[in-house]
Amino acid sequence: MATTLVNPTTGAAFREVPHTSAEETDRAIEAAHEAFLSWRSVAPGERARLLRAFAAVVDAHIEGLAQLEVENSGHTIGNARWEAGNVRDCLNYYSAAPERLFGRQIPVPGGIDVTFHEPLGVVGVIVPWNFPMPIAGWGFAPALAAGNCVVLKPAEITPLTAIRLGELALEAGLPAGVLTVLPGKGSVVGQRFVEHPLVRKVCFTGSTEVGKQIMAGCADQVKRVTLELGGKSANIIFADTDIAGAAASAPGAVFDNSGQDCCARSRILVQRPAYDEFVGRLEEAVKAMRVADPAAASTDMGPMVSAGQRDSVQGFIERASVAFAGSCPDGDGFWLPPTVVESRSTDEEVWRAEVFGPLVAVMAFDDEDEAIALANDTEYGLSGSIFTNDLGRALRVARGVESGNLSVNSHSSVRYWTPFGGYKQSGLGRELGPDAPNAFTEEKNVFIAH
Ligand code: NDP
Repeated sequence: MATTLVNPTTGAAFREVPHTSAEETDRAIEAAHEAFLSWRSVAPGERARLLRAFAAVVDAHIEGLAQLEVENSGHTIGNARWEAGNVRDCLNYYSAAPERLFGRQIPVPGGIDVTFHEPLGVVGVIVPWNFPMPIAGWGFAPALAAGNCVVLKPAEITPLTAIRLGELALEAGLPAGVLTVLPGKGSVVGQRFVEHPLVRKVCFTGSTEVGKQIMAGCADQVKRVTLELGGKSANIIFADTDIAGAAASAPGAVFDNSGQDCCARSRILVQRPAYDEFVGRLEEAVKAMRVADPAAASTDMGPMVSAGQRDSVQGFIERASVAFAGSCPDGDGFWLPPTVVESRSTDEEVWRAEVFGPLVAVMAFDDEDEAIALANDTEYGLSGSIFTNDLGRALRVARGVESGNLSVNSHSSVRYWTPFGGYKQSGLGRELGPDAPNAFTEEKNVFIAH
């Protein structure tokens, strides 16, 4: 069995990637476990050095990795270079962790009490197709730093950069079995990560539906699990802000990566006095977007990743009542225009569903309480933005919105320095930030009697 990869920009097939079978997955997990027995006892300074060497090799291959992502996933070249650089930065950041994996000395009667952060063993990382490089790195960099070995399953349709990163890890000197990339089907390779007892933790990013199945499967062995799932994030714009600036930045916050982003601000809430001005300026900004060949440096938005995703989002667009849209190429490839709906009711499908494409809904609100209530009227809680010049209001709204990652007067979401994860059905646990390596360890307590 193999997957035929299709270039989203042209719709043309360009490569076959063989699937990993269930038996091959089991063998890879067992080999990773063997590698773990040595990797866990590599001296912290040496593990740190190897992660920095891996980062340096990735840095030397940024352009090649980026070109692969343009061809395989249709990402704009600017984004793809940033994504490859993000893997390098993540490796460098977590290369400091092996030498700082501190336990505690806790005062107790009758002796000394110390804690250790012991690695878990083999960690399974399941990656979706929307950000193949960064999401892989957010899993493997802290997991390796904490002394674990990683088996990684890229999405079936976007495996190329992960396969390349696996090769670069070996080139950098990581021992065989420490990071193993296993392309293939979620229902086969991913399922074995859930079922195989030597996999001690699963990090899953993808749909909420599959995330629930992973969590249920992991429950059988009380296996550790991190879930990064869907989103329906709100971009809340108060009338006191710079409306021109907020309108200029709103398209990028939802249409970046063609809207295929769990943090996409796909609901825009605008305070009523500023609503008409905002929508007018948004229309100008959306119509000015350059949707074109992602390999061109001037392109703002490329194609959808696949015909299936294009068709799914096309369905949402056809069922919504569209206010205005930008343009897109009409030739081969999986193109959609950036599209805007003015929602009147929170019952509308476009207001509730995670579309995962270039479709955004705009709605008016009257006051702070209503803005918070509307933002929270969703089963998701991943990200969001607040635009206001009133610092007190910014803090009140940021505290009120049930979401893991909020930004004020910007659209920042995922930074490797800070924790990332969701409330409600957007996920479970946190990735990234200074504590991420601890999430790949068991805290062991040892009491030594005097
Ligand atoms: P999935 O959740 O199906 O896929 C995500 C990853 O999980 C892929 O690597 C997939 O493998 C794997 N997987 C699928 N089924 C299983 C399983 N039973 N056991 C273990 N692993 C499994 O997402 P889709 O690709 O189907 O996208 C559908 C929708 O999900 C999107 O439209 C979007 O709404 C949402 N989504 C959200 C993402 C996010 O970042 N939060 C990312 C991607 C999608 P395979 O590629 O073989 O299917």
